[in-house]
Order: sequence, then structure tokens, then C-alpha cells
Amino acid sequence: MALYGAQIWGAVFLREAVLFDSPLQRLWSHALRRALGQRSACAHRVLLQEAGARPLQFYWLRACVMFWNGCIESDNSLVRVALLGEITLRAKPGKSATWLSRVAAALSDLNAQGHSFTLVSRERNPLPVPLDSLALAWDQRWDKQWAGIRGDPRQLTEVPARRLLVYKGHFLSAKPSAFERPAYLSEMLPWRAVRSLTQLRLGVAPVRSTCRARGEDTPYCQRVCLRCGAGVDDEHHLLFDCASTAACRRDYPGVLPQVQTVRELVKCADHLLLVKFVHACAERLTQ
Ligand SMILES: [Zn+2]
Repeated sequence: MALYGAQIWGAVFLREAVLFDSPLQRLWSHALRRALGQRSACAHRVLLQEAGARPLQFYWLRACVMFWNGCIESDNSLVRVALLGEITLRAKPGKSATWLSRVAAALSDLNAQGHSFTLVSRERNPLPVPLDSLALAWDQRWDKQWAGIRGDPRQLTEVPARRLLVYKGHFLSAKPSAFERPAYLSEMLPWRAVRSLTQLRLGVAPVRSTCRARGEDTPYCQRVCLRCGAGVDDEHHLLFDCASTAACRRDYPGVLPQVQTVRELVKCADHLLLVKFVHACAERLTQ
């Protein structure tokens, strides 16, 4: 449904700067958030990555380019006239809001990453765009944007940026453009327990107790765990160190002995054991 007519109306949402701005993308993100059982707002980028789904913009750009390529290949004289008319219109001064100029602007965003997609030759002849290369370029840009998210999450006070860093540090796969759903989401596991693990991965688990007490701009080092008072409350503290979850570590002795980081922990092959352990820890957050 999200693709219906996207060749026409989708052109206004193809620029890199408006990746998550379209009402339909927001609606879809909301649906994904509900499907994953998350009520809090979490970053679009993290949400889509966790769901193994590309942003709608990717499919709209591909639909526009397929439409363009189809027009070029068409034998229909009317289509040919319309195509040349669009090229002529775009060439007129001040005509920056045409369909062709919008698609060209989206391709220029990709070209800024070292590609060379062109819709029209110097002689004003329409040129087809290779779809495989386009998809590859889009995925490469997605990977680069993840690579550009750097920093120490423990130094950040801005919560959305910290969520991105935490996800990248603990949960992002080596190749984010693979858009693979984590295995635990594809198995029949207890729903509440799965939701707790998803919350933790999306950075919306209610850790950082003193942060909630003092406000979101509390420096990370001052976000001391209110349950045990012995450390900064974050994902690692909750699962590995917090005294309030010591009983969980005793109850699930098979989860932790082999691992020392959250990144290693979530690779646990026994997903049932993993979600049960994380859920048991997460329940301590609300007690
Ligand atoms: Zn604690």
C-alpha cells in the first residue's frame, strides 16, 4: 500500500535530509513500534534496523527510477513526448520543483558519496539508471551514516543520540545494510520477555533512575542506580553488576559465565534463556 502511486507522489520525500519526515514513514514507524511492543519514542533508525526493514524512502526512490527507466524503454509516442517535455521543463530557470528535478536531487545526494547517477545527458537525452547500483549505493550510504555515529555514550547527556550509540555499540550487526531481523524476533518466545529484551536493545528500558529523578539532561556519570546506589545505571550495570539483579544471575547461571559484555550476551544462542534472564532483570526496574 505504501508503494501505491509512489512513482508520482513519492518524489517529494527522496532527499537524504527528509529520510524520516514523511507522514507515511512516521505512521509505519509507529506501527513497527506497536508491533515490537514499545510505547516510548525510540529513534527511527534504531527501530527500522531492529525490525530488519529499510525506510520507505528506499522503495520510493527505486519506484521512481523504475518508472523513469520504463518511460525510456516505452515505444508509446505520448510517453516519449511527456518525457521530453519533463526534461525541457526542468531545464527552464527557476523550475526546481518538477518531478525530474526532485528525483535528480535525490540522486545527487547519492552522488555526493562518490557515485555518478545521471538522468539526462548533456545533449538532453534521457538516460536509464541501473537499479542494482542504485540499491547498492543507498545501502552504502545507510552504512556510512551508522559509521558516522561516533562517541562515548557515557559522555552524552542528549538521550536520543545516546540511544543510537548504545544500539550501535551493543546490538548493531557488522553489516547494518543486511537489514536482518534479530533471530530472537523470529522465534516463538514468551511475548512479555521478548518485549523486555527489545526495550533494552532499543534503548527505551527505564534504566538511569537518577536521570528520571533529576531530568533528562543529567550528565551520564551522575545517573547513579537508585536500586543499589553503586554504579551508573545502564544496560551493562543492570545485567552484569547491579545488586538488585543478583538473584537473576543466580537463577540463570547458564547465561553469564561465558560473556563479559552486553554485545556478547545478546549473541547467546539459547534465545529462550536469554529473554527470560533479561525479562527477570527488567522486572527489577519497576519494583
Ligand atoms: Zn544498581
